[in-house]
Amino acid sequence: MELNIGVIGTGGIGRDHIRRITEVVAGARVAAVTDIDAELAGTVANQYQTRFLPSAEELIQSPEVDAVVIASWDPTHAEYVHACIRESKQVLCEKPLASTADDCRRIIDAEIAQGKKLVQVGFMRRYDKDYLSMKAAIKQGNIGAPLMVHACHRNRTHIASHTNDMTITNSGVHEIDILRWMLEEEYVSAQVLTGKCNHYAAHGLQDPQLLLLQTESGILINVEVNMASGYGYDIQCEIVGETGTVRLPDPSALQLRSEGRHGFGILSEWSQRFVEAYDNEFKHWVSDVKRGKLTGPDSWDGYAACITAEALIRARNEGTAVPISIGTRPAFYH
Ligand code: NAP
Repeated sequence: MELNIGVIGTGGIGRDHIRRITEVVAGARVAAVTDIDAELAGTVANQYQTRFLPSAEELIQSPEVDAVVIASWDPTHAEYVHACIRESKQVLCEKPLASTADDCRRIIDAEIAQGKKLVQVGFMRRYDKDYLSMKAAIKQGNIGAPLMVHACHRNRTHIASHTNDMTITNSGVHEIDILRWMLEEEYVSAQVLTGKCNHYAAHGLQDPQLLLLQTESGILINVEVNMASGYGYDIQCEIVGETGTVRLPDPSALQLRSEGRHGFGILSEWSQRFVEAYDNEFKHWVSDVKRGKLTGPDSWDGYAACITAEALIRARNEGTAVPISIGTRPAFYH
């Protein structure tokens, strides 16, 4: 039986997920879409021959919608996730789960009170084959115990409304989640170094920012988050262990030798980078929803990312190291 999915938000990633559900994922269809921009959502509904509903609330409550994808702007996520939990409908919420760790805790409380895991967070990198291989290499002991991580998240340029906090909550949050997932350890401290600003970044934007994290066993992590690299969308990650290192490969691209040069292209936009990971994320989610057992990143992971982001922001604003206490994952999320 086909899973009827309602999509909230028909902006950049919302439209991509609608295309994905329609063209890539078997056994699912887009049953309804909505967006605060009704004209845009109406056009998208026409394009994909689906229904436009005038509000997220109506979409979530609609009997024609079995499960929901939230792809609207960050501050709307928590409210819509709560509405899905009230309706006992499974939801894939784009990151971040909520704007504050307290909001995430309220989602956790509501989900536990419903007695069923309903929420998955859109940390799609966990479905990327190269990150999966890195994690397998660590687990097989190929590099010995991890000691350090050097990572970077570079955007070619940023949107006009980008803020210093979004560097952490909207971009750095992917690194926060994927490293915690790969290392299988919680963070215990956060620090942020800022220095000379790139004058190509918007006036007043502190860019780049260097995020420093330490895990419970002492692994040291540095992540450069650079919103205005100028040259492309470039994600890098190297884990240094006691006996070796493992590195995220560059996405495969044509190697060109020509006119005295040898090189390959670098992607320009985030939307080009993790296409297969998004596809896998949705295939797994649809299959999990159908069998009634979610296995992807959950509300607890959304909370862990959020509390870490908050610690990083406080550390940057106060110019000091800030301890992080994520706490113990409730049995409900094991
Ligand atoms: P976007 O292009 O700005 O699209 C967001 C859409 O949501 C816009 O059409 C916006 O309308 C609409 N919207 C705003 N408030 C709404 C509300 N209350 N109800 C319904 N719709 C509302 O942004 P985007 O890049 O697609 O990002 C959307 C979400 O996905 C964000 O939370 C972002 O963090 C996340 N995201 C995740 C990834 C990933 O790698 N997992 C990548 C990109 C984005 P207006 O434009 O009129 O405000």
